[in-house]
Amino acid sequence: MNTNKIKADFPILSRKINDKSLVYLDNAATTQKPKQVIRAISDYYEQHNANVHRGIHKLSEESTGLFEEARKTVVGFMGAKPNELVWVRNTTEAINLVAQSWARQNLKTGDVIIASELEHHSNLIPWQVVAKETGAGLTFVDVTPDGQVDLEHLEMMLEAMKNEVKLVALSALSNTTGAELDVERVVKMVRKYAKNAKILLDGAQWVGRKKTEFDRWGVDFWAFSGHKMYGPMGIGGLVVKREVLEETEPWLTGGGMIEEVELTSATYTPIPERWDAGTPDVAGAVGLARACVYLDGLGMEKVEEHERELTRYAVGRLKEIPEIEMVGPVGEITKYQAPITKQIQNSNNQNFKPNRLGSVAFLYMGVHAHDVAQILDNEGVAVRSGHHCTMPLHTKMGWAATTRASFGVYNTKSDVDRLVEGLEKVNKVFR
Ligand code: PMP
Repeated sequence: MNTNKIKADFPILSRKINDKSLVYLDNAATTQKPKQVIRAISDYYEQHNANVHRGIHKLSEESTGLFEEARKTVVGFMGAKPNELVWVRNTTEAINLVAQSWARQNLKTGDVIIASELEHHSNLIPWQVVAKETGAGLTFVDVTPDGQVDLEHLEMMLEAMKNEVKLVALSALSNTTGAELDVERVVKMVRKYAKNAKILLDGAQWVGRKKTEFDRWGVDFWAFSGHKMYGPMGIGGLVVKREVLEETEPWLTGGGMIEEVELTSATYTPIPERWDAGTPDVAGAVGLARACVYLDGLGMEKVEEHERELTRYAVGRLKEIPEIEMVGPVGEITKYQAPITKQIQNSNNQNFKPNRLGSVAFLYMGVHAHDVAQILDNEGVAVRSGHHCTMPLHTKMGWAATTRASFGVYNTKSDVDRLVEGLEKVNKVFR
């Protein structure tokens, strides 16, 4: 990928921070936006703004057309069909939507929801709430010592509770350990044992890094945020298998989703409009569609390869710093974590491929993660520090807080070098 050309598409990357050129390594929190997306949004407001599906005037027709086109583009990008997308604000809202509609309508005492110990709070708290409300049980797949969802444990759980399991909700790509879920293996396993279970995947970290193949995978729910895939904040989606969406009563009701209304009853439009109550974020949808076109232009296979190479390089460089202990997979992992030193030796090997994508989080011995991030910020390097909304995982692993560098299409190996130079300053300040 031509990263110089890509960088030029992102106006914010030419900013200076503390008189140094910005190195943005907080992409797991949100990605920057290319000028193509920014222009698509301002063009919408400058040229086409009107409410959708309601007016017969020219602007309303144009706005409706752009909105419908955006839906087609986004579902195409996700490998799904147009009537399988519900617009939401973000991944959090997408998962809450499943909890508040499908789960409340279908779960009861005796049913079981399976999540994992590494879930983002957004794929955890909605299930805590819904379990309390419906009487369903909530149980967790173990995480291996190197920060992966333990699929052998999942298989044991599915086999043991095959009739009770009604939902398996897992993160496709961990925002903390960077571990990738073997989606096809999970789907096969769930379908084999728990015939009545639905599968929800949290695609927040995946969508901007790897190709999404919703229909081919055969999962039931796929939650994602536009702002983590170079699109605007405030728009995202829940992709839902058609038959599941048809069988589920919408969460929000009101204008825009009805056919006939009487004072005491109403009939609803078919899907997907049935899920579009109220005025939608049309400019957001248009901007997100433009982000999909942008990513398709780069090619998702190339994007993944680029992220993989940067991640591999970052893991290799960070191992040079003795004070650093990386979390998550750092080497050629088989089932359980090989002794750390062995993995580090592996990382000198040409074939070294950590089973992780897009981010590297670490502990810096004797220095709090916020102090590490502060020193890096002084050097113009933006990273994230804290618990990354995975407090239960941090507690289990005994990490007070971690510092996370996460990558995007515009990052380069020299950005990783700037990170490593910044980390050398941490050593000077604190030792
Ligand atoms: N899940 C994962 C894995 C995430 O990384 C995030 C964002 N950090 C979310 C869910 C929540 O995304 P949002 O804040 O856009 O709702």
